[in-house]
Amino acid sequence: MESTFDKWLAGAGALVALLVVAAGLTFQNTRRLNEDASWVAHTHDVIDTLDEIIVSMREAEAVQRSSIITDDESRSAEVTAGIDAAKRSVETLRRLTDDNPDQQARISDVQKGIADLAGLWSYTARVRNEQGFEAARNIISSDKADRAMTKLHGALRQMGDSERTLLDERAAKTERTYCSAILTGLLTGVAAVTGIVAFMVLLRRHLAVRKRAEHALQEADCRKDEFLATLAHELRNPLAPLRNALQVMRLAGGNVELLEQARGIMDRQLSQLVRLVDDLLDVSRISRGKIELRKERVELAAVVQSAVETSRPLIEQTGQQLTVTVPQQPVYVDADVTRLAQACMNLLNNAAKYSEPGGQIWLTVERHGSEVALSVKDTGTGIAASELPRIFDLFTQVHRSLDKAQGGLGIGLSLVKRLVEMHGGRIEAKSEGPGRGSEFIMTLPVLTDAPDPPSTHESENLASFKSSLRILIVDDNLDGAQSLAAMLKMMGNDTCTAYEGLEGLDAAERFRPHVILLDIGLPKLDGFEVCRRIRQQPWGKNMVVVAVTGWGQDHDRRRSQEAGFDQHLVKPANLPALTKLLAEVNSAND
Ligand code: ADP
Repeated sequence: MESTFDKWLAGAGALVALLVVAAGLTFQNTRRLNEDASWVAHTHDVIDTLDEIIVSMREAEAVQRSSIITDDESRSAEVTAGIDAAKRSVETLRRLTDDNPDQQARISDVQKGIADLAGLWSYTARVRNEQGFEAARNIISSDKADRAMTKLHGALRQMGDSERTLLDERAAKTERTYCSAILTGLLTGVAAVTGIVAFMVLLRRHLAVRKRAEHALQEADCRKDEFLATLAHELRNPLAPLRNALQVMRLAGGNVELLEQARGIMDRQLSQLVRLVDDLLDVSRISRGKIELRKERVELAAVVQSAVETSRPLIEQTGQQLTVTVPQQPVYVDADVTRLAQACMNLLNNAAKYSEPGGQIWLTVERHGSEVALSVKDTGTGIAASELPRIFDLFTQVHRSLDKAQGGLGIGLSLVKRLVEMHGGRIEAKSEGPGRGSEFIMTLPVLTDAPDPPSTHESENLASFKSSLRILIVDDNLDGAQSLAAMLKMMGNDTCTAYEGLEGLDAAERFRPHVILLDIGLPKLDGFEVCRRIRQQPWGKNMVVVAVTGWGQDHDRRRSQEAGFDQHLVKPANLPALTKLLAEVNSAND
């Protein structure tokens, strides 16, 4: 949540930065354009001033000539005004070109030209006064006057040429600045618009995803509520007959038939309860990654046989016909037999549960190259196409009705899917629609190496196993402790039970058992501490102390080893492992 917020903050920051850069570039370009344009205007001012000088001097020359002809002395003031105007323009010129040393140097030529012409005109006026028109005309028509004017012209042209060159350069620079301003403006504009659009699109998408997630959450919440309602119903279902059966036992007196009937009811209902709780525990353990598969090379037919044996009573009870087809050649898979059979059994039970009496179920195994497909097909209620995609989701129930005969919690298929995936396989569901049957196909990788030699199952010898040991059982689960003690007694052992840590310690000292089956989570003193204290006693050094606990992770095993336990068994204790251990201790004591 926080990281999503950070991402959006970063995105908004980047967008603002982009907009700031775009604004900065636009501002800079506008400033450069203004600067360049003002230089162009400045050059125009210089050229205009040069023109003004020449115009003023030409007008003054014309007035001076006409005053010589007409002998009108009053016009000499106009000549002086023209010269003064030219001089003022020179001052303007000096100011305008104060950044240009070359032009400044040329101004003195202009000044000199103006001064020469002014001197010549004043001399000509004096000659007209003193010597008459002819003498003055000679001066005017002499090339002295022309040379003076040409010199001034030359100085002004030089300055004009230089300014025009500058004007060209400055105009070209302005054009370049203008082009680059347009380009940068365009690019930053496009980038900014793209950024804003992208931001908006992503925001919309994010909001849509969030909405979907909220919707999914609501749906999951709804499914959870439905699940809890179903769970309550499913748990209550076996509880009522159990209570009734207890009542029957209480009232039955010595009626063996009634007692046997009640026992049968209790047995069946307990199995139903155990199945529900087991499913729940399994799905939770798988979700938390706490199920470890005990994989070995197994023939798939053996898995099928185990599943069929377990499901057959239900299939027969619901009046279904089951047809099993497996390939003649054995197909081996790397699997945990119990778990894979559990998955297969779930599919068979569902086929029976969701079919009308008298329906047909086919279990077919077919090998396709390096894979094997196990299909369970039925002629039952079928599944609507809209339900197929979520059929493997946890707590999904298509045919939800609280009065259905064979209940469930909507976790069976989810469990199957996870178990199959843990075996490196996949599962798919097919149905042509309601009322048209369903098919579930699990596909697993086939083991292709040579088969292992058949192993001898110790469990075959379990029934006949006998030992004569003193065994202390310490467990705060009274029923668990007592039933284990009863079983060990039937094997020929002498047993003693204790239900909390300190009591267990006392019992160990008194009873001096060969073997202690010690739970870890105990009241008053935990199993680790009990074991440590036993090991500190001279009588406890050689006792075989076995941890029997619900915790089976590596670090739990390490802890129990550090506390002094000889072995670590995970509840419910694996019977072959327990009998093997007892056999070892028994033969060591013989
Ligand atoms: P449960 O059977 O406990 O409800 P599952 O996870 O095993 O839960 O199945 C989920 C749902 O899928 C069932 O409630 C049922 O609606 C549907 N379903 C499963 N198997 C079949 C089948 N063979 N035919 C029709 N519907 C099925």
